[in-house]
Amino acid sequence: MKLLDGKYVSEKVKVQIAEEAADFLSTTGRKPHLVAILVGNDGGSETYVASKMKNCEKVGFKSSLHRYDNSVTEAELLAKIEEINQDDDVDGLIVQLPLPKHIDPEKVTETIDYRKDVDGFHPVNLGRMMRNLPCFIPATPYGILLMLQEYNIDTTGMHCVVVGRSNIVGSPMSILMARNANPGNCTVTLTHSRTKDLKEQILQADIVIAAIGKKNFVTADMVKPGAIIIDVGINRETSTETKSGFKLYGDVDFDNVAPISSYITPVPGGVGLMTIVGLLKNTLASARKEIYK
Ligand code: NDP
Repeated sequence: MKLLDGKYVSEKVKVQIAEEAADFLSTTGRKPHLVAILVGNDGGSETYVASKMKNCEKVGFKSSLHRYDNSVTEAELLAKIEEINQDDDVDGLIVQLPLPKHIDPEKVTETIDYRKDVDGFHPVNLGRMMRNLPCFIPATPYGILLMLQEYNIDTTGMHCVVVGRSNIVGSPMSILMARNANPGNCTVTLTHSRTKDLKEQILQADIVIAAIGKKNFVTADMVKPGAIIIDVGINRETSTETKSGFKLYGDVDFDNVAPISSYITPVPGGVGLMTIVGLLKNTLASARKEIYK
């Protein structure tokens, strides 16, 4: 078993990003700029946004955070997004999910200018991804591709089973793994809560990508020996053992699955760190106008 070490890979890629951000600053006189909008005070969202902001500073980006109470109206939020869309000093705009029930996430996603949509959730970016055209790839799937690349894992011809079909992870991941590219060139099975015989499906996989949101859901008896395991899940539980007061678990029963896998991502220290790298790379590409002029 070999660990796919998100800490090592993310630090390495961030060094490159920092160099490129410094070049960008010296040629343009400005830093790549990421703006985040956070509504409410969900513990997980607070942590993710703080980490994104901190990482921006670390690689020499500018970052700004706009915070709103849960009581913010949809109209107020959409107006703010429109305003940021017009701001030439902003390269990337993300709105942290989930949003309160009275705000339609689809409207929010579609209001963000697709040229600043560094989370890659806008239908224009998803459509272009589907057609293998230059676009912002959703940050988590992008981070997973970078991880596979870093370890020179050739996925050509593999059977990839993705568990979970969300718009932000499972569905785009299934498209990317089936693309004519490497990583990619897989035969992909996209599974979800209505899949019959899920265990039999996962047992067929050369590569399993678990994005379910259920602690230790994928157990050793579901995994073919030698499979590659990518664990996207972040399940937070309160804990008295840690300083932060909570502990993170993946969707995969790491202790029992790791010994029979060929490669596996840990939680924490795996995909989560690579997601931030995906976001930073998209923001830099946006600043340099590499994808959209
Ligand atoms: P969603 O809740 O949007 O989607 C979960 C998916 O899992 C759904 O498609 C659902 O099926 C499927 N599912 C749920 N229960 C089962 C089951 N018993 N059997 C099979 N499939 C099931 O989650 P996300 O995709 O947003 O996130 C998934 C996990 O990844 C979460 O733990 C989240 O915190 C984490 N995450 C981690 C990131 C990172 O950077 N590492 C980034 C984003 C998310 P159905 O569609 O039928 O309901």
